[in-house]
Amino acid sequence: MKIKSGFVTIIGKPNVGKSTLMNVLLKENLSIITNKPQTTRKRILGILDEENFQIIFLDTPGILKPEYLLQEKLLHFISTSINDADILIIMINLNEFESQKKIFEEEIFTKIFSDKKKTKLLVINKIDLGNEAKLKNAIKYLEDLKYFHSIIPISATENYNIDSLLDFIFEFLPEHPKYYPEDQLTDEPEKFFVAEKIREKVFELYKDEIPYSVEIEIDQFLERENRKDFISASIIVERDSQKPIILGKKGSAIKKLGELSRKSIEEFLMREVFLELFVKVKPNWRKDENMLKNFGYTN
Ligand code: GDP
Ligand code: MG
Repeated sequence: MKIKSGFVTIIGKPNVGKSTLMNVLLKENLSIITNKPQTTRKRILGILDEENFQIIFLDTPGILKPEYLLQEKLLHFISTSINDADILIIMINLNEFESQKKIFEEEIFTKIFSDKKKTKLLVINKIDLGNEAKLKNAIKYLEDLKYFHSIIPISATENYNIDSLLDFIFEFLPEHPKYYPEDQLTDEPEKFFVAEKIREKVFELYKDEIPYSVEIEIDQFLERENRKDFISASIIVERDSQKPIILGKKGSAIKKLGELSRKSIEEFLMREVFLELFVKVKPNWRKDENMLKNFGYTN
């Protein structure tokens, strides 16, 4: 039997639905999804394994012009993920097409398009929010660019046309032995996803700049015999003034955060855990080279 196997990187502006698509393709909630932009911070790798093929998806942070050091690091994750790809999925969002088509003039994209070797699939997401005329216009415009091997309209949340996207990926996938063992879903340890689940709940519960200022550190993750796993995590904020916001009145906000995070972690790990949360201030961590390194944003 011929085996096909390869890396598929999903790129696009913040909030177009990259993480949603990856989760739908994998049928797992691996990558965090929120209605706010810039929630995916590192590249998330997810493996779809079938008998005769293996697709390794790389979900990336949204492409933005870097304004602070953290965002520069994010761009680095994006460009290495692009280099690793056999197939690139460039995702845009139908209901913001007019503003999003400008990405095809940006430097990062013109670089990608000059690389003739890579297969480029253009995915138009959120077609459930648009109409037929809008979609036809968008497709016409994109076809005229002549950059893409195929243009595929989908709705990630409605699971519309996902199978045909998979067919296209399969068609362009190189013949290659499987890269990962068949039962492996991702390359990060459980600890990483536990931190991501907490970060996702921070995005749900707190407003404005708070979620963007937060990083999660897992201080302890102990598996215990005949007892629930013990997890202790720190919510790192940038300023003293953010600490009482995280805590809330009489600790009510952090209590809620703990409950929601624990449930989401248990769902992901498929076992019960005991979760303890603390708040710590690390001034300006988003701009500090050493601290970013400690949090795993390496260059
Ligand atoms: P990312 O920043 O590109 O990773 O985007 P996310 O996957 O986090 O999704 C951003 C928001 O768009 C979330 O609120 C999703 O539920 C929503 N979304 C994603 N795909 C669709 C879709 O096909 N239709 C609609 N209506 N919303 C979607
Ligand atoms: Mg994302």
